[in-house]
Amino acid sequence: MKLECKHVWEHISEYLDRQLDPQLLQDIENHLENCEVCSAILDSTRNILVLTADDRTYELPVGYSERLHKRLAKALRE
Ligand SMILES: [Zn+2]
Repeated sequence: MKLECKHVWEHISEYLDRQLDPQLLQDIENHLENCEVCSAILDSTRNILVLTADDRTYELPVGYSERLHKRLAKALRE
């Protein structure tokens, strides 16, 4: 099965939380290896998570998902 970028983005938070089933995880990792857009998004998402963890919050900031989705929507249009 070939994943499209938007499918990766739909699952990116589960991916980071390792809550995906193994087959989907494999598909997403394959996609990330071949897609600069998604790997860039993943990198920036990870950076936010690291910053949050350093603050010892361990939760996404309020509004984070909304901002991420807006950003993804913008990226989709470009
Ligand atoms: Zn992609």
